[in-house]
Amino acid sequence: MREYEAVIGLEVHAQLLTRSKIFCGCSAAFGMAPNTNTCPVCMGMPGILPVLNRVVVDHGIKLGLALDCAIERNNVFARKNYFYPDLPKGYQITQYESPLCSGGHLDIGVSGAQKRIGIRRVHMEEDAGKNIHDERRPYSYIDFNRAGVPLLEIVTEPDMSTPDEAAAYLKELRLILVYLGICDGNMEEGSFRCDANVSVREKGSGRLGTRTELKNMNSFRNVQRALEFEIERHTRLLDAGLKVELQTLLWNPARGETQSMRSKEESHDYRYFPDPDLIPVRVDDVWIARVRETLPELPAAKRRRFALQYDLPAHDCDVLCQSRALADYFERCAELLPAPKDISNWIMTEVLRVLKGGHDDIGSLPVTPERLIGLLRLMQGGTLSGLKAKEVFDEMVATGHDAEAIVEERGLEQLSDEEELRRLAREVVEAKPRETALYRGGKTQLLGFFVGEVMKASRGKANPKLAGTIIREMLES
Ligand code: ADP
Ligand code: MG
Ligand code: ZN
Repeated sequence: MREYEAVIGLEVHAQLLTRSKIFCGCSAAFGMAPNTNTCPVCMGMPGILPVLNRVVVDHGIKLGLALDCAIERNNVFARKNYFYPDLPKGYQITQYESPLCSGGHLDIGVSGAQKRIGIRRVHMEEDAGKNIHDERRPYSYIDFNRAGVPLLEIVTEPDMSTPDEAAAYLKELRLILVYLGICDGNMEEGSFRCDANVSVREKGSGRLGTRTELKNMNSFRNVQRALEFEIERHTRLLDAGLKVELQTLLWNPARGETQSMRSKEESHDYRYFPDPDLIPVRVDDVWIARVRETLPELPAAKRRRFALQYDLPAHDCDVLCQSRALADYFERCAELLPAPKDISNWIMTEVLRVLKGGHDDIGSLPVTPERLIGLLRLMQGGTLSGLKAKEVFDEMVATGHDAEAIVEERGLEQLSDEEELRRLAREVVEAKPRETALYRGGKTQLLGFFVGEVMKASRGKANPKLAGTIIREMLES
């Protein structure tokens, strides 16, 4: 049996969050009525002149710095020529020979180990329109709203070797883009799209095998499934002494298999040449420095800091740093109450539970950090039991009220008053002479029974721990 290993390289297209398109003033907003965000420039009318949106360069430099890339000083745009109905000009304006960013890297963690993935290039380009196929009609529609929306294409070195690594890379890259505020990372709406290149070779071989390029995977899960399927298919072919054909394949999620789309094009097919309508864009040190100042703390750095500063387990740091807003929420809480692990537990369970149920944005959660800490303080002070606290939390979410107000209004205070507990305990002991005798005769397992009776007598409000201590004292004295 020969042993094989897979080699994976990924190309991501990230739609940039700019107000206008890359070469005209049309809105770049998603979800508008078809063909309303269009003008002669993005419709490719003869004689039009594109003008570069400088925010696209800002965003590109920002990502380049985040990925430790070298930034190109002399940025030339090229025309990539091909025919497709969604491409009105007959060419796409992109960067070819000198991408804005090159030679960077991104570190990923897979099953506890760190791995560095090389970033070959990041370049600026325009998106194409969208063909819309309606099964019930003998023709298709074209929506040009997307034509000219700015993209960054991010290309890795063939440095990944498992579908898990590919998924980890994509998740981290997406998180960085969202942290930077330059892409919304929405895979279903297509603002974060991935093509995967995969080949299989004999383990240890220095040469790359023939690759296939996979398209049409609109979730992390589908990228993994498509890669698993392809690796399996390549391996079977190689095992049978057959060759893998260099081609572009479409992932069919319903059938769980890849389907042939076209033979793989090569760059000379596109007849790239510099776009004569666009002058080269000079990026100087001042520009780069200005962008550098706008870089936020990146996810990896934030996770490391959370681990050190708050002494949290790696898993907590991962979850809390899934969004800048969530991390900020945690930090505000930790400022108010120095109990980071308790806070983290509450966020990871209760807060995230209700966010999934409709609050997709922590900013809209009525339970502000101040209110969450108010709740935690009631628990710490013994006024509220853990179980009741969850009820109170749900009510805080529903009403936007403070924990204190809800606890008072609904009479949920835990009974921690020793006098009162002692009175209840005495009543229980007097009412249960048989069990009292048994306990005193050595059957101390009955403690739970007595605590239960005190809970009953207090209608569930007694602090069970304190009640236990008091009863034991009473029975053993
Ligand atoms: P293209 O634009 O034609 O798709 P590139 O050569 O720029 O081509 O490669 C695109 C991606 O494919 C890169 O991420 C690269 O790492 C990856 N890649 C190239 N060759 C292989 C291979 N033999 N196996 C797996 N991935 C590969
Ligand atoms: Mg490609
Ligand atoms: Zn336009």
